[in-house]
Amino acid sequence: MTSTLEAIKENITSWARINSPWAIHYNSGSCNGCDIEILATLTPRYDVERFGIKLQGSPRHADILICTGPVTRQSRDRLRRIYDQMPEPKFVIAVGACALSGGVFEGCYNCLGGIDQVLPVNVFVPGCPPRPDAIIHGVVTLLESLKQ
Ligand code: SF4
Repeated sequence: MTSTLEAIKENITSWARINSPWAIHYNSGSCNGCDIEILATLTPRYDVERFGIKLQGSPRHADILICTGPVTRQSRDRLRRIYDQMPEPKFVIAVGACALSGGVFEGCYNCLGGIDQVLPVNVFVPGCPPRPDAIIHGVVTLLESLKQ
């Protein structure tokens, strides 16, 4: 009986997590182009909230970390600290060519490369900058993988 209740509780928790993920956005060195596209994704025109996604400010309440830009030496520790403060299970979406590989900043003295140099990344969204449609596709891809 207890195991059945535990299973039901786990199913409800998973259902809620998939249908109402909370996200936090962090710019680890972006030129701001990708950040503007993320803001556009949140506007009524693209309306990412129809998938239940809510952008909020505290890593302690976030399920998904959306990162833009390459990782700079100055931002590496902050990025790691934000990730560490997020509760399990947690997921990372890297948005833009810079977040994937360092992009146009690759080889700069203060650039360490893409987000995956510091954190495990679940979804990569290419583009410079990626359009809101591509960002939504990345988010939906993550949610679909969680359902499975
Ligand atoms: S991918 Fe392009 S728009 Fe995004 S941070 Fe890099 S240079 Fe800027």
